[in-house]
Amino acid sequence: MAKIHILDEHIANQIAAGEVVERPASVVKELVENAIDAGSTKVDVAVEEGGLLSIRVSDNGSGIDPEDCETAFYRHATSKIAQGRDLFHITSLGFRGEALPSIAAVSKVKLVTSNSSDGRGRVLEIEGGHLKVNEETAAPRGTDFLVKELFYNTPARLKYMKTIQTELGHISDYMYRLALSRPDIAFTVRHNGNTLLQTLGNGDLLQVIAAVYGTQAAKSMMPIKAENMDYTLSGYISRPDFTRANRNAMSFIINGRYIRNYGLSQAILRGYHTLLPINRFPMTVLQLDMHPSLVDVNVHPSKLEVRFSKEPELYAFAEEEVRKVLMQEVLIPRPVKQNISKDANAFIQEQFHFSKNNSEGNRDKVPSTSALDLDKDESFKNLIDREKGSVSSSGGASSNVGETPRNPGSSYGQIERSRAFSNAGSFQMKESAATTYRSDSRAGDRAVPSKPAMTQEWLQAAGGVAPEIPPFPELTVIGQHHGTYLIAQNDTGLYLIDQHAAHERINYEYYYEKFGKPADASQELLLPITLEFTPSESEKVKDRLHWFEQVGVYLEHFGGQTFLVRSHPFWFPKGDEKELIEEMAEWVLSERNIDLAKLRETSSILCSCKASIKANQKLTEQESAKLIERLAACRQPYTCPHGRPIVVSFSIYDLEKMFKRVM
Ligand code: ADP
Ligand code: MG
Repeated sequence: MAKIHILDEHIANQIAAGEVVERPASVVKELVENAIDAGSTKVDVAVEEGGLLSIRVSDNGSGIDPEDCETAFYRHATSKIAQGRDLFHITSLGFRGEALPSIAAVSKVKLVTSNSSDGRGRVLEIEGGHLKVNEETAAPRGTDFLVKELFYNTPARLKYMKTIQTELGHISDYMYRLALSRPDIAFTVRHNGNTLLQTLGNGDLLQVIAAVYGTQAAKSMMPIKAENMDYTLSGYISRPDFTRANRNAMSFIINGRYIRNYGLSQAILRGYHTLLPINRFPMTVLQLDMHPSLVDVNVHPSKLEVRFSKEPELYAFAEEEVRKVLMQEVLIPRPVKQNISKDANAFIQEQFHFSKNNSEGNRDKVPSTSALDLDKDESFKNLIDREKGSVSSSGGASSNVGETPRNPGSSYGQIERSRAFSNAGSFQMKESAATTYRSDSRAGDRAVPSKPAMTQEWLQAAGGVAPEIPPFPELTVIGQHHGTYLIAQNDTGLYLIDQHAAHERINYEYYYEKFGKPADASQELLLPITLEFTPSESEKVKDRLHWFEQVGVYLEHFGGQTFLVRSHPFWFPKGDEKELIEEMAEWVLSERNIDLAKLRETSSILCSCKASIKANQKLTEQESAKLIERLAACRQPYTCPHGRPIVVSFSIYDLEKMFKRVM
């Protein structure tokens, strides 16, 4: 007797439901996508108890033809594609014809729909896949879909549902993405009667960003717009000082469809380069449009993943465009926002978060105590000794008193700056830079000019085009806070400078220069340094010896898993050489695609971490002044090599606002 038979439609739908309807959020997704495909301009979503009790999606779209209402619930019933070749030109969100039968198989559904404006429509009720009602009713044009008691007939699935909050989280997360993908549609989302999201549907993406992530986030966004032969890119990316702990706020919309794509988010991160702190992610809403043949959306039932046919080209394009936008932006965060005066408490909170985040950031990043750390003066002496020309060579900080700039605490960072920026094309140093900005700050804007300032390495990656770099403001140090932040001022406002971050930046640029020609400075060691690796690492090291040579480190295989460092540049941070080379090796071994630029940059960062003064170190007035002078001479004095901010400023206007001297 034959054992194989075709499953009846009902069971087949329940099986398909397992894939398509994973949780309440999947129902919301499918219904809202249908509403969008129907050309709606207004979509309302109302859920009860995380969607487990009920989900209702109403739209003002095309509605369903009375004759089609029952068919719509059949498996593979769709109005969106007709033949195989349509699969390569999908322009709708749905096309598989699986959602309605799957949802209806595991819940109680009531559908009211009308495709005309004469007030006549159709109502259908389906329970667990069985049609109960199909009759005429009064209805406005559009579709109203009510899904109750999801998974009531599949208790095993119901058991896997998490708390109401978790399910609601998935729903709102999905609705946020949809709202971001379609600013031209007015969405509302309600839970147990409370409005969670409301967008206007006026096509303004920034308004949707504000509705989803808050106005502060919206204010930190920079617009992006570009196109080439294949792709059109538009949307917003956040300034590097506005970051998140994970990638969740990186959204990609391909041809109107929200998708997930790891490769694309990596490309964006590469675009930000060192501007982001370690383990922090930007907020992005990027809409990419391309010919439908360049993207395959038929990869997964939930259609959250897609495949691109020209992946490398697309990633390179996205990376490049993000980089270009960042190049045009200032990088000094200003904790005082323009609308702050409303609520002084909010301001204080914000300050608190800001400094808290910052110090947490520092804690992660400051490397473990090194020899330099113990001998703090030594580390600072390095900084001063390195100075050529503008400071006497007579030695350390303490013997430098006679060299204090003209009037103690008037203007620093003049001489060096013009050198550092001499290749910045249109850049012009003004002796009275500070006064130039005063009028700006009055206007309620920045105490610091809002023009780009990029790292050398970043510029190179960007093809070496030097943007106009703003001069570092002239500052007078007036104190130090908790051995960590320098307090400075000028005519236009008040500045806080993270001394560790500043020193790291100075050192980074110093070492970056040095790593340009490391071999020149490589010195033979009297006592070679011994390094040990695991057997598989040893094989790799042997293959990659030339990369070590590129940074002036000459390694020799001694046998087995042992290698000897015969020579390295003499300017490696004293006492930390072995640790440093080990860290470099770790990178060289773990990196899949090493290139010289990255190697040079990584090595410079490692060196600068080791050589920099840490927080909690008291600096003398001269040392502070010198630090700022050296910082001002940097190509990119606004962020440390890890992307953390170095300077935070308050314009006089900001201060006046805070104290309510002006409203
Ligand atoms: P798909 O979206 O893949 O076509 P569905 O099962 O989600 O499959 O929907 C089946 C069909 O029902 C759709 O092709 C569409 O014609 C119709 N439909 C579903 N929801 C709506 C709606 N809100 N407005 C208009 N038509 C709808
Ligand atoms: Mg659908």
